[in-house]
Amino acid sequence: MVKRVLVLGSTGSVGRQTLEVMEQLGGTHQVVGLSAWSSAELLFEQARQFGPEAVALGTAPVDTSGLPQGCELLTGAEGVVELVARTRPDVVLCAITGAAGLRSTLAAAETGADVALANKESMVLAGHLVRAACARSGSTLLPVDSEHSAIAQCLHGEDPAGVRRVILTASGGPFRGRTRDELAHVTIEEALKHPSWDMGPRITIDSATLMNKALEVIEAVHLFDVCAEQVHVVMHRQSVIHSMVEYCDGAILAQLSPPDMRLPIRWALGYPARVKAPGPPIDLLALSGLTFEEPDRDTFPCLALGEHAARQGGLSGTIMNAANEIAVSAFLNGQIPFLAIGELVGDALNEFEAGADPDLDTILATDSDVRRHTTNKLTEFSHPAGSPHS
Ligand code: MG
Repeated sequence: MVKRVLVLGSTGSVGRQTLEVMEQLGGTHQVVGLSAWSSAELLFEQARQFGPEAVALGTAPVDTSGLPQGCELLTGAEGVVELVARTRPDVVLCAITGAAGLRSTLAAAETGADVALANKESMVLAGHLVRAACARSGSTLLPVDSEHSAIAQCLHGEDPAGVRRVILTASGGPFRGRTRDELAHVTIEEALKHPSWDMGPRITIDSATLMNKALEVIEAVHLFDVCAEQVHVVMHRQSVIHSMVEYCDGAILAQLSPPDMRLPIRWALGYPARVKAPGPPIDLLALSGLTFEEPDRDTFPCLALGEHAARQGGLSGTIMNAANEIAVSAFLNGQIPFLAIGELVGDALNEFEAGADPDLDTILATDSDVRRHTTNKLTEFSHPAGSPHS
């Protein structure tokens, strides 16, 4: 049987790599739908190449002449949700960036299709709602985040009661080993240079602040039903061990591979089967010299904020993520210095109540309240006059 694949966020970094994997999969998988927020030209080009039944575009396009004949076009945020129902997929690859991906992830989780989740914010904001939707529909959650894919692979066939710790590895990003003083004046270009992974701009900045790891701690708590105290972060600069699970008997299982998002994508699209990767076998000697270090939570306070938010639960993940999305955009626009990102996130977590077990409306309302609050705070944290920035 040919697997029907819907790719949400197909013009982003993970979306484009998913289509690369789809090309290699040949006759076993078929693209039935694609979505993008505003990159109409690339979306239509992908539609001409893969021939989906329908595509969705968040913003209305000016010119639809590039769309292939017979391919239906849905528009607006509702169009993305409608696309999920319309295309009857067997697997939905959720690769929209940020909180904007939540509604479509929930829609996918309601269908009973496999949910290949690259949108970690869905779990950070509403992990309990996504899991409940999957339980109702029979959908299987398949993480596409490399760390969580590794953990899922290490948990496969094991009794969850035997898990002692989930160990998330962190490359440390471009500023690993720096001091806070050294980070005060880093530029956007420096922050966008990740040493081992090639990713989109938002997640690359999140790697530089360690906010990405903070979000991943919360993501792990919800994906694997473990408590925050069981999730540990270790710095592993080579990005070869993608994460580990330690069991109560003292065994640690790890998943190793060169850093390449196409592996977790391939794993999720093939699940439960393994699909063959192109290229030669891995050269273990080229991967030798693996190191582990304690993270520096004083220099990178976002990690400690995330661990705190994971223990607190409720709306903490929503608050942290909303403040971070605003702060990262402001940093990328040259409005605030690098260190202000963590300060704005800390400010929002102090300002808003975490509560417990929020429903979707409360989550979405809090998300916009925090965005407004943090946007208003930007001027307080902006560059002092005459300071260097780019
Ligand atoms: Mg990751």
